[in-house]
Amino acid sequence: MIKFLTDAMLGKLTVLLRIFGYNTVYANDLYELDVSHLENFPIHLPNPIPDDILFQYANLTERIILTKDLPFYRRSKDQSFFLEGKGVYNYLRQLKEKFELKYEFEMEKALCSNCNSPIKKVSNKESIKNKLKNSTYAHYDTFFQCTNPECQKIFWNGPHIKDIKEKLNKYID
Ligand SMILES: [Zn+2]
Repeated sequence: MIKFLTDAMLGKLTVLLRIFGYNTVYANDLYELDVSHLENFPIHLPNPIPDDILFQYANLTERIILTKDLPFYRRSKDQSFFLEGKGVYNYLRQLKEKFELKYEFEMEKALCSNCNSPIKKVSNKESIKNKLKNSTYAHYDTFFQCTNPECQKIFWNGPHIKDIKEKLNKYID
């Protein structure tokens, strides 16, 4: 499946792509990622990351760079896609047209919006009771949790998901 590297300023788009299951690394987070498995790549990355390192990372991990920075795009046309205008649903529409992305939401296939790791169903909701608001705990039965031990963010099919679906219907056919 297609993978992305999102340039700075594209935080909202990063979150939505992950929710739809697209593996997306946010350039702003790259300096904290474990990149020790990549050959010929610096282990300790500076913050902010120089453009050349971003190109190299995208290449090594076979990611398409999404950017709103025209000079940056011009330097990396082969491996990047320039997003026009503004608005995250506008960007999603452009990506759908270009890469035939599908925005079908399934909790089982979503990635953690916070860290891009797989999420998995919580088998016993009592185990996460102390991490949720009482009203959320009472109102929902199915929860998912990020498998990254340093993140462990919890997800459920709440009103934020309904809002995303409504906006998709409105702005993208
Ligand atoms: Zn996470």
